[in-house]
Amino acid sequence: MKYNWFECPGCRCQVAVNYSESAQGISGSLRRWAPERGINDGRALSVPRAELAAGGGFMTACVCGQSLSVPGKADAVSADREGDLRVTLGE
Ligand SMILES: [Zn+2]
Repeated sequence: MKYNWFECPGCRCQVAVNYSESAQGISGSLRRWAPERGINDGRALSVPRAELAAGGGFMTACVCGQSLSVPGKADAVSADREGDLRVTLGE
């Protein structure tokens, strides 16, 4: 699972995108929140492989409709669901 965080320029919410990559492309979810305005919602995220940029980045849209550019490099990666990416511990 990969994670990226943004501040949406459209609705000024904090936005978190989490996704995993498969042969079909990107699938995951987008969540936005602004506690002071009572906003806490999200949407499913699905990007076909053909729409991924060369570096693995992709475009998606916030719940408010604002386009967000997700870079190929994740802000954080969780190995929980990526069994191929084993961490090798030193001896
Ligand atoms: Zn937004």
